[in-house]
Order: sequence, then C-alpha cells, then structure tokens
Amino acid sequence: MLTSIVGTNWGDEGKGRMVDLLSADYDVVVRYQGGNNAGHTVINDRGRFVMNLLPSGILRPDTANILGPGMVIDLEHLFKEVEALRAAGIAIGPEHLLLSDRATVCLPYHKLLDGLEEDRLGDKKFGSTRRGISPVYADKYMKKTLRLGDLLHPDTLREKIAALLEWKNLTIQGGYHGKAVTVEEITDWLERYGMPFAGHIRDTTRFLSAAIAEEKNVMFEAQLGALRDIDYGIYPFTSASTTLAAYAPIGAGVPFARLSESIGIMKAYSSCVGEGPFPCELFGEAGEALRAAGGEYGAATGRPRRVGGFDVVASRYGTRMQGCDYLALTKLDVLSYMERIPVCVAYELRGERIEHFPANIDEQNALKPVYETLPGFRRDISLCRSFDELPGEAKSYIRYIENAVGCPIRYVSVGAERDAYIQLF
Ligand code: GDP
Ligand code: MG
Repeated sequence: MLTSIVGTNWGDEGKGRMVDLLSADYDVVVRYQGGNNAGHTVINDRGRFVMNLLPSGILRPDTANILGPGMVIDLEHLFKEVEALRAAGIAIGPEHLLLSDRATVCLPYHKLLDGLEEDRLGDKKFGSTRRGISPVYADKYMKKTLRLGDLLHPDTLREKIAALLEWKNLTIQGGYHGKAVTVEEITDWLERYGMPFAGHIRDTTRFLSAAIAEEKNVMFEAQLGALRDIDYGIYPFTSASTTLAAYAPIGAGVPFARLSESIGIMKAYSSCVGEGPFPCELFGEAGEALRAAGGEYGAATGRPRRVGGFDVVASRYGTRMQGCDYLALTKLDVLSYMERIPVCVAYELRGERIEHFPANIDEQNALKPVYETLPGFRRDISLCRSFDELPGEAKSYIRYIENAVGCPIRYVSVGAERDAYIQLF
C-alpha cells in the first residue's frame, strides 16, 4: 500500500494528527517536499508534539521515517527538533530516521536572505515564514546548493562551499549591503549541526525500493495544502514546493512508484496563515469566535491564522488537484458553538457568480464569498465515536460536504487526541 496524505486547502487541515493515527498500519512514513516552514501538531499517549521537519511517524518506535530528496533541510532546525524529541523520551536512531543524500541543505544564508527580502518588501511582503524556503528552492533550481550527501565527502566540501559563497556574497553584500558570509561560518555550522546526522544520511531510494519490493506499507506525508502548491495554488502567495499527491513518489525518492491511494485532509471550516487570497475569510466577531474555538494559531510561528467558513469551491478544487480517493474531515467539534454554520458555496467575481477557483492572482484577489448557512448542532460531539451517535445536523453537514466536493468522507475527527475520531466506512 502506497498512500499519500495531503491537504486540500491552505494547510493546517490536521494532516499531522491523521498521519499519527493512520501510521499504525504503515512501516515507513516519508516527507517528500518543503522544509521546516510548517508545523504538524500531534497529541497522543506520549504527549504533545510539534513537528516541523520530522514525519509524524517518528512517534511510533517501529516505523522508519524518511526525509526525502524533494525536501529542503535546515540542519540546525533538525538538530534541535531531534534533541527536543529525545528529551521527551523518543529514541531516534539511524534505523528510525533516514535522511536522503539527495535532499537539499537549507543553509543559514538562505534564512538570512528570506528575512532581508521580506524586510525590503515592507507592507508588500509575502508573509514568508522567514525560514529560507523560497531562497533555497530557488538555489536548488539554479543548481547552486549543497545536498546532504555532500557532507559525506569532506575532501571536496570546502571547495563547494567556497564556490557557492563567491556567488552568494554578490547578492548579500552587493544587493542587500549585508556582511559577507565566510567559509568558516558554514563549515562550523555543518560540523555542529550536520555531522551528528552523518550516520542517518544514505541512499533512501534504495531503502524505499526494497521496502516496496517487500510489499511494505509506505505513507507519504505532505506539508501545506493544494492552495499553496507552487503551480496550482495562489501564486505568488504559495510555498516554493509541490504540495500535491502526484509529486509524492518523485519527492520521496521512488519516481517509478504508483500511489495506491490519496487521502485528502480537509477541515470542517477554513484557515490560512499569512498573506494571499482567502476569499471565504470571516472578520470581526465571527472570525474571532471561530479562531478561538479552533485554537487557530500557527504551530511553526504562533501567528494568528485567518479563518473562514467551509469553502466549497476551494475545497472541491483542492480535492481534485490532490486526486483524492477519500477524505478525512477534521475538527468538526470546533463548530459545536454555532447556531448556524456558515458555508461559502460560490464566489462572486466582478458581479458574476462563479463556482470554480480562478488561476489568476488578480481574479483571486477580487473574489467575494457567497455565504449560506446550515443548521448548527449546538452540542458537544467530542465524545462521539460513531456516525450514529452524532446529532442529525452534524450528520447532514458531513453529507452536505461530501456531496458538495464530490468525494467520500471516510474519517471525521472530533478532538485533537489520537482516538477522537469516527470512521464512516
Ligand atoms: P497540519 O499542519 O495539517 O498537520 O495541522 P496543524 O497541526 O498545524 O493544525 C491542526 C491543529 O488542530 C492542531 O493543533 C491539532 O492538535 C488540532 N486538531 C487536529 N484534529 C483536531 C480535531 O478533530 N479537533 C480539534 N479540536 N482539534 C484538532
Ligand atoms: Mg500546520
């Protein structure tokens, strides 16, 4: 079984908690894109954990976890994330965490440049997490970065760094009037934060190929959601990577593999971190109440997330782009307080009603939501463990969404804890 777990919207749909739940049946969990610019929160019997880089399967001792070739890895962040988990009693050895020798290293100057550029943009900023993700992906495609495997070849490493800096300092010094980065700074940083992982860095494609040949179950864990995809999202307010299920085999290191299924994670309402078009956004009291009920503050940055009602148009689009076979609808419990549940059923674009998600940023910016409301369930549902136990209005809401986005809902989560969910089929 080769399964991708992906977000259908703007991210933060609850992918981490679903991976934590479903990974029980998987031998390997692979992250295949992005870096430490997102956060997955997992709450289980071992505690509460926030993961930025590590696959959520890291909390299961018998699961192998891979950071794949499609990722960009800030080694300092990885070092600290691993230390924090170890301090919480999670053992992380080379058999439990494997790092692809093809993955790109996100260096300190990528982070530096991300911040310098956001500052330069001022109020036109992209809302970057300032973690160096766009700069390092840009350099990857310029073919001017280090890959993790380079750390295993110390004889040529210094030379590679010197060549990179000769080029990069042109921008840092000339463009931004910053201080030149030295070869020593980078080698010291790699020594301190990279070398401890030397035993974890390997050809993960060979490892995964063998696992697939033995018919092991492999899960591909995505970060962010369809609307943040570099090609199909709200460009340029997207992430720099491909967040879609179709990229999973490539970014994970097994481009020849075919997915068995794609599971879309979709929230019972909408949220969006940072800038960019978010047509269903709710403001004022309605927004405040939903943000508070859902605890919508970024796991990576602590930023308050923008919130809105369920967006039928964006969710249908995201489900399609992700090629979802079925969905997990998360955080349904959050809506318990509502008398009526707001749902964005269509958009208005310059006076015209539309039911598709436009590709162009100017059209996306001009979208006005068309809201309708559905009856609320006004009851605590966090202890419900079967569909039958849910109030009628909650059942109708689930069926309404299934129908509106055109994809079956298999799981509904009603709390952040591992067992707070309902399976429908
Ligand atoms: P991800 O980025 O898609 O993994 O999602 P995040 O972890 O950033 O955001 C989801 C948040 O909702 C986390 O704080 C989870 O603990 C929490 N959460 C997940 N599922 C549920 C649920 O069913 N109910 C409630 N109330 N919280 C949930
Ligand atoms: Mg998140």
